[in-house]
Amino acid sequence: MATALCPGSFDPVTNGHLDIIERTARHFDDVIVAVIRNPQKTGSLFTLEERQELLHECVKHLSNVRIEFFKGLLVEFAKEHGASSIVKGLRAVSDFDYELQMAQMNQRLSGIDTFFISTSPQYSFLSSSLVKEVARFGGDVSTMVPPVVAERLQGRFVQEA
Ligand code: ADP
Repeated sequence: MATALCPGSFDPVTNGHLDIIERTARHFDDVIVAVIRNPQKTGSLFTLEERQELLHECVKHLSNVRIEFFKGLLVEFAKEHGASSIVKGLRAVSDFDYELQMAQMNQRLSGIDTFFISTSPQYSFLSSSLVKEVARFGGDVSTMVPPVVAERLQGRFVQEA
């Protein structure tokens, strides 16, 4: 059985992430969405539990996808879960340098291969951080994130205002 990991911070999950997760789920038997819990990504808007809850809601139609947290080296987590592949989305050339370096490092560390899926053009400008910035100032993000996430963002920033 081929298991793939889709790692990220998902703070919060966007339509760009979901597109990659859905497409990965078509090619692998089992997909683990691996939510990073490393401390270097500070300043998160949503707690790990909130991110997990939102992800659950958004992937519930995909029977071969599950959500897990990971800490430390992704390749160790991959080995523990029997995953032989990592799948990442590539938005633009600017993603490429870093992603290539990380893929090569992970290959060297563990033999685990990274596969890249090119973003769907309508999502190539989307990132969680930009979505949060737009939502914070009252912009409409309803075409960029699933409805449950849009609602949660709106609620969060109304509270803050
Ligand atoms: P972000 O960069 O939005 O904070 P993450 O760190 O959660 O997102 O990214 C997890 C993975 O999802 C990365 O492989 C990233 O390239 C991919 N990804 C994020 N947004 C998109 C998008 N709009 N289209 C394709 N892939 C994406």
